[in-house]
Amino acid sequence: AAGGESDAKLDDAKLIGVTVDKEKDFSGWYQQILTKGEMLDYYDVSGCYIMRPASYAVWEQIQKFFDEKIKSDGVANAYFPMFVSSKVLEKEKDHVEGFAPEVAWVTRAGSSDLEEPIAIRPTSETVMYPYYAKWIRSHRDLPFKMNQWNSVVRWEFKHPQPFLRTREFLWQEGHTVHLTHEDAEGQVLRILDWYEEIYRELLAVPVVKGVKTENEKFAGGKFTTTVEGYIPTTGRGIQGATSHHLGQNFSKMFNITVENPEGSDKPKIYTHQTSWGLSTRVIGVMVMIHSDNKGLVIPPRVSQYQTVIIPVGLTSKTTKEVVDNVYSSCKDLESRLKASGIRVTSDYRDNYSPGWKFSNWELKGVPVRLEVGPKDLANKSVLAVRRDTGAKVAIKLDELDTELPKLLDAIHENLYQTAKEKFDEHRVLVHEWSDFVHQLNKKNVVVAPWCGVPECEDEIKDKSAKQDNGEDFEVDEKAPSMGAKSLCIPYSQPELKAGTKCIRCEKAAINYTMFGRSY
Ligand code: AMP
Ligand code: ZN
Repeated sequence: AAGGESDAKLDDAKLIGVTVDKEKDFSGWYQQILTKGEMLDYYDVSGCYIMRPASYAVWEQIQKFFDEKIKSDGVANAYFPMFVSSKVLEKEKDHVEGFAPEVAWVTRAGSSDLEEPIAIRPTSETVMYPYYAKWIRSHRDLPFKMNQWNSVVRWEFKHPQPFLRTREFLWQEGHTVHLTHEDAEGQVLRILDWYEEIYRELLAVPVVKGVKTENEKFAGGKFTTTVEGYIPTTGRGIQGATSHHLGQNFSKMFNITVENPEGSDKPKIYTHQTSWGLSTRVIGVMVMIHSDNKGLVIPPRVSQYQTVIIPVGLTSKTTKEVVDNVYSSCKDLESRLKASGIRVTSDYRDNYSPGWKFSNWELKGVPVRLEVGPKDLANKSVLAVRRDTGAKVAIKLDELDTELPKLLDAIHENLYQTAKEKFDEHRVLVHEWSDFVHQLNKKNVVVAPWCGVPECEDEIKDKSAKQDNGEDFEVDEKAPSMGAKSLCIPYSQPELKAGTKCIRCEKAAINYTMFGRSY
């Protein structure tokens, strides 16, 4: 019989599951779950990866959510070329200094060298703003809000990591222009809230909102806001997405001005700008946090398929009538769930046993599998099995349309709460330098009073690259920097008591800053 469990001959295709332990070999594990779970494949250009449908589908859900938000906010999508002339790229000095080491250049076409090498955008400030200067004439044109869904190239030399750090990555980059500093600031924070919402409501990932320090802010900007995530297994922080207030720096460089609303005899006004980006890095963060030794665990609101239907309980002795009934019930169920807006797939392959299929769909991280067999149908129910907990619950067929969405929400909530408990537990308040490295070594990120001086941050980074006993960590070229850098100055601050000193130097602390080893 089709799908027969006893059909041993067809059943010799052993599932090759995950063979490394998440806790013991994190990067080996990450590589395996992504490739075996069919999210991603390696490519023959280092630092570049193929996003297969299972990961692109996650990106599409994020696009859908965010695109709707920004359009409701008056942002319009556009597309600018990926190439930048060196003259334009180098227009804003601080900005280009920040990016220069990572810019990739086209130097040749066919067999002839180009007269002038052409850069590939690492971000599009300098690509877009000359045209902003041309298009924006009057304060009535403001606010002016545009976004691109595109890819950018940053030829980084740090160890590449699928999704987290790739040489080409997909993102959106929004660029807005405002009449006042305050209006631009409102934009920056509105976007930051939506970034946090993407992490919390779609990816089930907790993040901390805050402001970057001078050392870590966007090159050429006024201030950078960020959402910061945490990978429990390695204890490292990860920058989740950034929203920048550019002040008037770029408007002065690119001459983006409007006439003064108070009269044409008054001086022109340099506009206030913002830019903000969220990349496919979010997929890596999501995978690292939720997945386990059975494979991927994809949160239901972004997973390509939210549920998979698998026929079970059929043997070679099962009558054709019963087999037909199981299959037609599966197909009915599939179209019913589709019609009610659930992303559903089914697995009718007859050369694999149900057990093999269970493991295979667990590897792919589908949130719920529905087992449908003769016994279930006799009870007018199916067996729903959660990917996150493995818990099984029988659901009445006629209640599935309402019960399955509830189950998917419960899975989302469980993933988020589990991740949040870990982040909360491993974000520790530290007041003594002697405790700082010790806490980092316990896979924590540290929230400490800090003076805000860039040189002090350099020193913290330098000194935290030591073990408790003062010895250097083994230097591994491929490991992310072992010193702790500032992740952000969280918006949510512990009370800073008067007279509190900086965690590292003798100066007075001006706030609590979150530090961590990071990706
Ligand atoms: P930035 O323009 O540097 O502020 O970066 C915007 C966002 O893109 C960051 O918050 C990161 O999440 C992400 N990002 C930066 N570099 C990479 C990279 N090499 N690969 C993937 N995502 C990146
Ligand atoms: Zn200090």
